[in-house]
Amino acid sequence: MSDPASPKLQLHDTLTRQTLAVTPVDGKRLGFYGCGPTVYGPAHIGNFRTFIAQDVFRRVVELNGTPTLHVRNITDVDDKTIRDSIKADQSLTEFTQYWTKLFHDDCAALNLLPPHVEPKATDHIPHQIKMIDDLIKRGHAYKAGDGSVYFRVASFADYGKLSHLEDRELRLGAAQGANDSDEYSKDALADFALWKAHKPEDGSNAWDSPWGRGRPGWHLECSAMSLEYLGAEFDLHSGGIDLIFPHHENEIAQSCCATGGHFARHWMHIAHLMVDGGKIG
Ligand SMILES: [Zn+2]
Repeated sequence: MSDPASPKLQLHDTLTRQTLAVTPVDGKRLGFYGCGPTVYGPAHIGNFRTFIAQDVFRRVVELNGTPTLHVRNITDVDDKTIRDSIKADQSLTEFTQYWTKLFHDDCAALNLLPPHVEPKATDHIPHQIKMIDDLIKRGHAYKAGDGSVYFRVASFADYGKLSHLEDRELRLGAAQGANDSDEYSKDALADFALWKAHKPEDGSNAWDSPWGRGRPGWHLECSAMSLEYLGAEFDLHSGGIDLIFPHHENEIAQSCCATGGHFARHWMHIAHLMVDGGKIG
């Protein structure tokens, strides 16, 4: 029974499917990671529903007397940012800076609190390379014939726990639909890219790594940057429900396998904004 004199903020935790109070693991400050925007165009109202829900959550926690450490990344390298920057005949930096500024202007117009840390994926390439290296050393990742590095899903027994895709066939089928169709050289269908070998259509957007030139896979940036700013174990991870699978499932797999079993303690997912019976986003 909760004490009405001391109301506690409770959340639906996607991982345990329970409604529970989220409290700081260190007893002091609530560590909170939200997946941020991919900056290749304007964010839409469906995206902002998620950011507003996270903002309200943070304000309530802070009003209740618990400080927060809010980290929200900027995805400034992926298939879409590269494709559209080349189409716009701009450098990736120039292109993503423009859309990041627009995102910040929209956040300000909505009176959203800026996150305490807003790391960009391109500023954390060495962190991502280090995590891949750790995963290879621990036997959870492998370099494939095409020069890319993949996470071996079969090496992580808890894969599917967040999305409750317990059935292996269902899992593999879902992963197949979610992955690039050109990833032929993987050992298993469900394995996902940690490092993508350079392809001609990537233009000059490639970084050196122990596995050759290329770029990190999208899922990896959140694992690397949450580890950097919130530590191996932190209180809450959040995003839109469309990120539960495969993005968050893959984040859990990478992080737990790289850190020895720790990651976000709880998960908050925000439902789609519905307009005229259809989802926005
Ligand atoms: Zn993420």
